Amino acid sequence: MVPQIVRVDDRQFRLYIGQAKIEQEVTRIAGELERDFSAKDPIFMPILNGAFMFASDLFRKFDFPCQITFLKLASYSGTGSTGTVKQLIGINRELKDRVVVVLEDIVDTGITLETILRQLSGFQPAEVRVATFLHKPDCTIREVRLDYVGMEIPNDFVVGYGLDYNEYGRNLREIYQVVE
Ligand code: 5GP
Repeated sequence: MVPQIVRVDDRQFRLYIGQAKIEQEVTRIAGELERDFSAKDPIFMPILNGAFMFASDLFRKFDFPCQITFLKLASYSGTGSTGTVKQLIGINRELKDRVVVVLEDIVDTGITLETILRQLSGFQPAEVRVATFLHKPDCTIREVRLDYVGMEIPNDFVVGYGLDYNEYGRNLREIYQVVE
């Protein structure tokens, strides 16, 4: 039985997106990526920490030649954006003339993604696409093109499926929304 309410660190969260819906959207995005990139030898680039679960579920569905390399960035502290992005682990792979698909857990203000896309362009890839599991369109500060989106959600803080609250809750298999 999936709990309707969970406690993560010092806050309560309510069940928001269940495993079946997550699986349905991941399968859909995997199909779209396979259709668009199976003949392009793509490099998938999950943004750590949050995207590890989405990336893992997605990646195991691919039956075509592809590679994966990880970037680690941080822009959040607690439940609010700090507005600044620190790059913790950089790009260490030859990307020139390659097709790169950035994998995000969630796009909120767009600041993180804008920073990533700016850094990536310096490596002269042939093409850069973005797949994000969640998108909060009401929070957009920087317009960035999202090529593949799992679900659009309102401006409420969520945890689970790789997303954390104070580094806890990433292991939850469902996505939960903060209870105010
Ligand atoms: P942005 O730079 O678009 O504002 O934020 C992107 C990053 O902020 C995400 O990769 C994620 O780490 C974090 N973030 C944004 N919204 C949420 C949220 O509702 N829950 C959690 N746990 N992290 C979020």
